[in-house]
Amino acid sequence: MFRMTLNVLRNLFTPKATRLYPARVREPFAGYRGQLEIHIEDCIFCGLCARKCPALCIAVDIKTGKWECDPFACVYCGICADHCPTDALFFADRHRAPAEKHSLMSYTGQPPKKKEKSVAATAGSEAPANRKSAPAD
Ligand code: SF4
Ligand code: SF4
Repeated sequence: MFRMTLNVLRNLFTPKATRLYPARVREPFAGYRGQLEIHIEDCIFCGLCARKCPALCIAVDIKTGKWECDPFACVYCGICADHCPTDALFFADRHRAPAEKHSLMSYTGQPPKKKEKSVAATAGSEAPANRKSAPAD
C-alpha cells in the first residue's frame, strides 16, 4: 500500500511520458521512419518491395505500371525501402497524418520496356553473320 501511494504521488509530480499527438509533435530524430513515400519515376517495378513486405501491404503490377500500398496495414518496418534497388522508396522526416478514412497509396509509373529480340536471335535457322560457311566439296 505504501509503495503504491509512493508511485501515485511520484507520477502526479513528474512530467508525462506521452504527448497529445497530433497537438504536440515530437521532432524527428536520425533514422526516424516517418511517412513512407515513393518516387514513382525511379521505380523499375521489380516487385522486391512487395515480396519482402512482412505485412503483405504492397502490390506491384509491372503490366499496368501500378504501385500500391495500404498504409493502414504497414507496420513501418522499413524492409521495403532497405531492399529497393533504386531508392525509389524512402521514409520522409514527418509523421503520418491521422486519417479517418481507409485509403491506399496508389501511383502509376512507367514500367521499363522489354528489350526486343535481335533479328538474328529470332531467325533460328539462319547462321550468324560472322560464321564462315562450310567449304564446298
Ligand atoms: S515499411 Fe514494412 S510493412 Fe510497411 S510497406 Fe514497407 S515492408 Fe511493408
Ligand atoms: S519501389 Fe523499389 S523495390 Fe518496389 S518495385 Fe519499385 S524499384 Fe522495385
